[in-house]
Amino acid sequence: MKALISIDYTNDFIATDGALTTGFAGQSIEEQMVKVTDTFIKQGDFVVFAIDAHQAGDQYHPENKLFPPHNIIGTKGQDLYGALKQLHTQYQMNPQIYWLNKRHYSAFCGTDLDLRLRERCITEIHLIGVCTDICILHTAIDAYNRSYKIVIHQHAVASFDPAGHKWALNHFQNALGATVIC
Ligand code: ZN
Repeated sequence: MKALISIDYTNDFIATDGALTTGFAGQSIEEQMVKVTDTFIKQGDFVVFAIDAHQAGDQYHPENKLFPPHNIIGTKGQDLYGALKQLHTQYQMNPQIYWLNKRHYSAFCGTDLDLRLRERCITEIHLIGVCTDICILHTAIDAYNRSYKIVIHQHAVASFDPAGHKWALNHFQNALGATVIC
């Protein structure tokens, strides 16, 4: 069994005026994000929207030293971007769609993702979204450590950092044994 983990395709990470935007790089994968997500939904697979979620004024969060406030829970910034938002709205009541607020880079960190996957006997996870070299990378590493088979959709991941994006795609294959597909 397989699942799609759709990571951080929100207004703050994608929109031109987003608080921590990947800009054109993120916007350019919109069509692929929708296409891959739609395919998984129609196949009846488990689809997880693993979305960065911060509380306003959380003084203990380690990202405070690194980034401006972003993806504050319940704000437009934490909402999905563009056509992916429309797709999620259409299917959000479907029990195979799961919204997961995550507090750290990895979708596994401090969440029930592993439990949700294992109770469905899912052994293969497909990753799409942003950023290739931050949240996708950390999620892939945690998946590797939990013995999941990992598939990365090359044209549905993006980063603000082209060198980091390229490095991460190599790392997925060469260090995590992931399959990188178009
Ligand atoms: Zn964050």
